[in-house]
Amino acid sequence: MQKGNQLYEGKAKKVFATDDEDLLIVSYKDDATAFNGQKKGTITGKGVINNRMSNLLMKKIAETGIPTHYVKELNDRETLVKRVKIVPLEVIVRNIAAGSFSRRYGVAEGVVFSSPTVEFSYKNDELGDPLLNDDHAIALGLVTREEIETIKKYALGVNSFLRSFWEKRGVTLVDFKIEFGRLRDGTIILADEISPDTCRLWDSKTKEKLDKDRFRLDLGGVDSAYKEVMRRLEEEA
Ligand code: 5GP
Repeated sequence: MQKGNQLYEGKAKKVFATDDEDLLIVSYKDDATAFNGQKKGTITGKGVINNRMSNLLMKKIAETGIPTHYVKELNDRETLVKRVKIVPLEVIVRNIAAGSFSRRYGVAEGVVFSSPTVEFSYKNDELGDPLLNDDHAIALGLVTREEIETIKKYALGVNSFLRSFWEKRGVTLVDFKIEFGRLRDGTIILADEISPDTCRLWDSKTKEKLDKDRFRLDLGGVDSAYKEVMRRLEEEA
């Protein structure tokens, strides 16, 4: 597999072409940003952890019947993935109130929901990623009705899998953000990453935050939280 030109550099990843037009290489960086890029920093070793964690989880999610972009881990920071056109929606699943949900609806962090919620934000930095519903996403031409139903079904499937996976390792999955893409033939698959950058993960006993909120909220111990969650991930359950 020949690595080609850099196609894109995002906040946490770079994407390269390959000699196969249906495959790309994703390279994970240690850079961290929050609040739409207003807060910037580095989390040492984050790229290596997010690459490994995301790949391991995507492999297991694929086993549950949800298609993903993962093809092959190339090295510590780089992974071969299927080329998709990203659907410009952040798909957020929540099990417990936190973050923007708590702020928006005035609900204390930690309130457990009777069933998970799925919400969508329009991926658009200029507009500040506004919240939108299924009808808005369809009206904006971002997805069809059928596609959004598939996305919701997959998002809840990912949540069921991840919740029990983490629970067995003493970690509570509070919420997470995922993204989907379309293959050349239009098939919707899970893309992007699943990592402590994109999930809220709490120690089940102590409720200690083991994710990017430590960076967002200046709680300290960011590198060690990422390492701890990686250690738990690799534990036999
Ligand atoms: P909230 O809407 O409460 O800020 O975030 C909900 C969940 O989605 C959290 O797990 C958070 O990490 C993730 N999330 C939401 N937006 C983004 C984003 O722009 N980037 C990343 N990395 N995660 C996000």
